[in-house]
Amino acid sequence: MAHRPTPAPRICPNCDGFASAAITTGGRDAHGHLRTITADCRSCHGTGTVRRPARAQDGARA
Ligand SMILES: [Zn+2]
Repeated sequence: MAHRPTPAPRICPNCDGFASAAITTGGRDAHGHLRTITADCRSCHGTGTVRRPARAQDGARA
């Protein structure tokens, strides 16, 4: 029986925790590097986790 002092962060259901992706825009710069843009998950804003609801709902059962 492990007791967690803090609840584990909930993984974002929209991106399954994979919150950021680098997308190539095509072409390379003068150094030969791929140009990329970073797209973050809209729901979690790139954090990969969902903020827990208000603390009052955790232990309350009705
Ligand atoms: Zn997300």
